[in-house]
Amino acid sequence: MARIVMKFGGTSMAGIERIRHVADLVKREADRGNQVAVVVSAMAGETDRLVQLCREAASLYDRREYDVVVASGEQVTSGLLAITLQGMGVNARSYMGWQLPIHTSTAHAAALIDRIDAKVLEKIFGDGGVAVIPGFQGVTEEGHVTTLGRGGSDTSAVAIAAAVKADRCDIYTDVDGVYTTDPRIVPRARKLPIVTYEEMLELASVGAKVLQTRSVGLAMRENMPIQVLSSFDDRPGTMVVGDDAIEDKTMERQLITGIAYDKNEARITLTELPDRPGTVAAIFTPLAEANVNVDMIVQSTPRAGERADLTFTVPKAALAHTTDVLEKIKDEIGYQDMLANTNVCKVSVVGVGMRTNAGVAAQMFQALAARGINILAITTSEIKVTVLIDEEYTELAVRVLHTAYGLDAEEDAAE
Ligand code: ADP
Ligand code: ASP
Ligand code: MG
Repeated sequence: MARIVMKFGGTSMAGIERIRHVADLVKREADRGNQVAVVVSAMAGETDRLVQLCREAASLYDRREYDVVVASGEQVTSGLLAITLQGMGVNARSYMGWQLPIHTSTAHAAALIDRIDAKVLEKIFGDGGVAVIPGFQGVTEEGHVTTLGRGGSDTSAVAIAAAVKADRCDIYTDVDGVYTTDPRIVPRARKLPIVTYEEMLELASVGAKVLQTRSVGLAMRENMPIQVLSSFDDRPGTMVVGDDAIEDKTMERQLITGIAYDKNEARITLTELPDRPGTVAAIFTPLAEANVNVDMIVQSTPRAGERADLTFTVPKAALAHTTDVLEKIKDEIGYQDMLANTNVCKVSVVGVGMRTNAGVAAQMFQALAARGINILAITTSEIKVTVLIDEEYTELAVRVLHTAYGLDAEEDAAE
């Protein structure tokens, strides 16, 4: 007998027919004698719809109320799955985040899970029941509903798996594993049978949204094996595990694991900033206090006595809050103009092999230059290189890089 947390994404939960199929998969696992807890997403498109409604209500919406609105999508699907399972004779019951409870921080719209009380779940396992838990949501100590950031159901699933010491966490989605890049834009992407937490963490953090970044970080800390697989076919998926779990140590690891892109960033430029100590701190401190995650940062180096420009990226969803904060501190900082551009995309090349191989970045810049793609900003880490480009070149850039690093499969992934 194994203890398994099964998580189903939005496409798998999109409508009663699909929920019935999910129920079949859950029942099959329970009939094998396994203890099962299920975490579900809202129906595909539902969270986008709810976010849009908040924006229409007020562009600078209150984040606590936003959480009340967007958490509702998962409440619906968890109830529907519990009803469907009951109809199949499975002893299933839904438990909201506040019922378990899943305690989180007060950072509304991007809350962090503090702890999960496993008592309720242990009791359900003991009684042979199946708990159906809405992903994405939790509750503060004061009892307010929170959400964990977009894609957060993956993190809910891994956190619950860790809390109940599950044998593994199965993430069912609409692709049958983790690929060298998004198989929807590169049909020649290759499925990776196994990938380390470290590689997956980097891929996810730069846009491979097949797993939410935080879920991978958590799995790594808890050493929780994740299996990514499709709810639409029975093919083996991708195992995301620790380096020590990869048996074939002599295996020739690919120099580059994959290519990722992220269209959810916006670029902000502040012009003519005073070139003195404390300017950058005076900009980023209030943004941090407003819970805005700043990513790429580029500052021009002015000549003595001149002023500097500062460019950085923030999530598109945080753009209105960011410009609001920056407008309020304009006089204090003393910049000339604030320019915002949402038509940008981050493209990244990731691979642990970069540590020991020079020239990966140069190869990337050459491949993009050969196609006339201009680079707006660059950041690097030990195992990744990221560039910011015009959004219209995203697909072209990803395909060109996928080929340049020798990642193309013989046949299309779609076949
Ligand atoms: P879910 O609703 O199940 O959580 P998501 O849409 O969040 O699903 O994530 C699955 C999607 O991730 C796929 O449909 C695919 O387009 C995208 N994706 C991006 N990069 C990758 C990758 N490297 N491997 C697999 N899928 C990827
Ligand atoms: N429904 C939420 C979202 O779309 C959470 C998730 O699906 O993981 O972001
Ligand atoms: Mg997802």
